[in-house]
Amino acid sequence: MERTLLLIKPDGVQRGLAGRILGRFEDKGLKLAGLKIMRISADLAARHYAPHVDKPFYPGLVRYMTSAPVVAAVLEGPRVIDTMRKLMGATFGWKAEPGTIRGDFSNSTAYNLVHGSDSPESAEREIGLFFQPGELVEYERSLDSWLISEDDA
Ligand code: UDP
Ligand code: MG
Repeated sequence: MERTLLLIKPDGVQRGLAGRILGRFEDKGLKLAGLKIMRISADLAARHYAPHVDKPFYPGLVRYMTSAPVVAAVLEGPRVIDTMRKLMGATFGWKAEPGTIRGDFSNSTAYNLVHGSDSPESAEREIGLFFQPGELVEYERSLDSWLISEDDA
């Protein structure tokens, strides 16, 4: 089953929104495979955001992501990468549609509460940066038979 990396960014943790944000993904039926709270080092922030190293917003982004703890999670489900990005909404909070996490809770450009991997390649790379293989848990949920049809598996 497909997996993706979720980060609840420092503003999400500081604003006390971590539980509600995780709940949005649980409500959608996505399964938690890994979860922790942690402080991101400058080195980890640089590796995670390496694709953006040449962008003008990169220095501020690294400062933001290392300024306070984040919640890191691995979520699992059919098409989870796409589903999670849709629930997050567009990058800028002021542009994101109401009903999405960013659209409902952020009115900012940089402080947009969540990160989600944008492709299977990014997901694999980013999960490897934040989690050891032994920290990810495989388990069955009895409700899965009502959340995942034969077409989804
Ligand atoms: N960001 C920013 N200014 C910009 C574009 C992005 O501060 O003009 C920040 C924002 O926090 C965003 C992150 O950099 O979430 C990574 O940007 P990306 O384009 O990958 O957006 P995402 O994948 O998070 O929607
Ligand atoms: Mg991105």
